[in-house]
Amino acid sequence: MSLANGHPYLAIPGPSVIPDAVQRAMHRASPNIYTGELTEMVPGIVTDLKRVARTAHHCAIYISNGHGLWEAALSNILSPGDRVLIPATGRFAHGWADMAQPLGIETEMLDFGKRDAIDPARVAEVLAADTGHRIKALPVVYVDTSTGIRNDIAALRRVLDELGHPALLLADCIASLGCDAFEMDAWGVDVVIAASQKGLMTPPGVGFVFYNDRADAMRETARCVTHYWDWRPRTDPDYFYRYFDGTAPTHHLYGLRAALDMIHDEGLDNVLSRHATLARALWAAFDAWGADGPLAINAARDIRSHAVTAAHLGGSLGDELRHWCEFKAGVTLGIGLGMEPSSAYFRVGHMGHVNAHMVLGVLGVIQSGMRALDIPFGPGGLDAAAEVCAGA
Ligand SMILES: *Cc1c(COP(=O)(O)O)cnc(C)c1O
Repeated sequence: MSLANGHPYLAIPGPSVIPDAVQRAMHRASPNIYTGELTEMVPGIVTDLKRVARTAHHCAIYISNGHGLWEAALSNILSPGDRVLIPATGRFAHGWADMAQPLGIETEMLDFGKRDAIDPARVAEVLAADTGHRIKALPVVYVDTSTGIRNDIAALRRVLDELGHPALLLADCIASLGCDAFEMDAWGVDVVIAASQKGLMTPPGVGFVFYNDRADAMRETARCVTHYWDWRPRTDPDYFYRYFDGTAPTHHLYGLRAALDMIHDEGLDNVLSRHATLARALWAAFDAWGADGPLAINAARDIRSHAVTAAHLGGSLGDELRHWCEFKAGVTLGIGLGMEPSSAYFRVGHMGHVNAHMVLGVLGVIQSGMRALDIPFGPGGLDAAAEVCAGA
């Protein structure tokens, strides 16, 4: 029999759960796109997005998923023949490279594997050898969604500054904005990308490139930039239609407005603490289960994201558990992405509109699934998670 009928729960690392308030805000007739409410709403959205990214600089909005943002960010600062250094801690850093190469940008990967965070000392070695400053940018991923690894972005800024290396620091915060603490300006990040469908709780389809004046100065000479990806018209408040280079993403903007209101009503610090506590609850259960069974969280504790957890079960047990949870219990877990073999892994997204009963529910379902599939596990996992929530 199936126990799945009821409210389904998509517990994958994006798209995330869409709050009722966001859905309600989007359920409306098409608005006027030239004047009136919608056009008046956009400047406030830009202001509030910048608050979440912790920047006083610029924010361009694109009708795009995350893949487009990689291209947007690179094309506004680089020219064919420029070189970038990409430290990788999982699948998503390769996304930067996949976009850079067809633009004629030379990419140098520095791969740290799938268990370790970026080692700033090794990045420093490569940058120090680049005495001619051929490397123009250091595109990194803050939280890698395939491995669950969170990288130390501020440490990379210190490396660049200590070497006096002028390369721009680019951070992919698509999985983590509004989930893991991030400080664009305080950490000295020049370009940040984020998308609507993860911590920002809005359907996929709009994305954001935040950039500072240093990055905009490089836009002056960048030859990769095309009309559509150009960020300058998109930050010109005098010409609303050009904000989007065409029709505005009308309903997404209403949804995003509601999502940003939720973030600000709760308070960004509280949003981040909620993510931290719920992540700790999940890890407490996984650690207890893993003490006497195959379940193991991929990333070491000090480099874990609060938005997504990747875990190893072995064999094809990751896939089997996912199937059980989806079809028997109505919870969709994330696939093992970019791991080998991917069927040995699964991921849990705990980003955006998540609370204690959702995370505790997912954990109860995972325990049921492991029992049903005869996967051994240590005792006390659910108790340990409940303790974390009780202590919050
Ligand atoms: C989800 C994600 C992307 C890709 O976003 P799409 O909207 O699927 O194109 C890129 N980088 C990171 C870190 C992500 O989590």
